[in-house]
Amino acid sequence: MAYIVLNKSNYFHNLSVISKKAGSIDKVAVVLKDNAYGHGLLEMASMAKEFGIKSAVVRTCEEAKKIETIFEQILILADTKSESYSHTFHIVINCLEDIQRLPENTNVHIKVDTGMHRNGIQIDSLEEAILGLCKRNLNLTGVMTHYRCADELSCDFFWQRNNFIQVKKEVKRICEKLFLSIPKFHSANSSALFRFKNYDDDLTRVGIAQYGYLETHPSFDNPILKPVLSLWGKKIATRELKKNQRVGYGAMFKAEKNMIISTYDVGYGDGFFRLNGVDKCETPKGYEILGRVSMDCLSINCEDEEVCIYDDVTKLAKIHNTITYEITTSLNPNIPKVIKS
Ligand SMILES: *Cc1c(COP(=O)(O)O)cnc(C)c1O
Repeated sequence: MAYIVLNKSNYFHNLSVISKKAGSIDKVAVVLKDNAYGHGLLEMASMAKEFGIKSAVVRTCEEAKKIETIFEQILILADTKSESYSHTFHIVINCLEDIQRLPENTNVHIKVDTGMHRNGIQIDSLEEAILGLCKRNLNLTGVMTHYRCADELSCDFFWQRNNFIQVKKEVKRICEKLFLSIPKFHSANSSALFRFKNYDDDLTRVGIAQYGYLETHPSFDNPILKPVLSLWGKKIATRELKKNQRVGYGAMFKAEKNMIISTYDVGYGDGFFRLNGVDKCETPKGYEILGRVSMDCLSINCEDEEVCIYDDVTKLAKIHNTITYEITTSLNPNIPKVIKS
């Protein structure tokens, strides 16, 4: 079967760049939702712990349970229906109604809508929300927001940043009034973190940058990151393709001369998006993926026993007119993973 290699030294490189920018390793919460963007939840969690990371972010309680013993705190972005309670879990409230859904004593982070208008409560509902938490015996441990344009050259980032400064002031005022301790504040994802001169929140939620990618405007001060994941295929069969013979569905590739080709066990069934036989796609060694990609295999002008299909998905994301996030997150979770130091 196809397999994934996770490069630990690249991962540690990224984590040290990120921790330095955040100001401290303790401020870094690694976002491991959606099977760690396809990299493997448990594999990435254990490496992050080895590096010294203490906080993680996931989408559901089910994901959080799998890594409960690995981190000191786990932020759960969108799952208020679960009955489970843990000291380690901190559940995000995306609307006022969420307050009624949680078991007593749950640790709660309030998400505030500072301009993205997707999830989160309004700034002028903060007092109502915090009072609601007190009534239901829920612990306010964090207040957060999310930027809509941190990766783009626009002033929206600064506008939302200012809104969040107002949120901090307002939360501090309410907490003092109610004799509550001040919660942790956090706002930045990967692209936002690298737009700050001096990062002054208590936490940063870093997803894509830890995996080695950051697709932001070239004029920003972008760090050098190294992709962690590479996808490998094992050889199924080798043959000689004679001049003018064609390979695969739709006969999209035609041999201009006699050539040796092999099939490898990677296809769109593994979450490697289908190439249509028109766009050129080369492997890191310079071999070419020939014709269309099938469900369970693809053809390459090579006869190595194993071949690295990609070790950086930036170009592939362009070919598919999407972002790096989607390329790795789509990988089939069943693909075995190997950690290489
Ligand atoms: C997914 C997510 C992140 C991580 O974003 P990246 O761009 O991958 O760093 C951070 N915060 C929230 C709320 C998210 O949903």
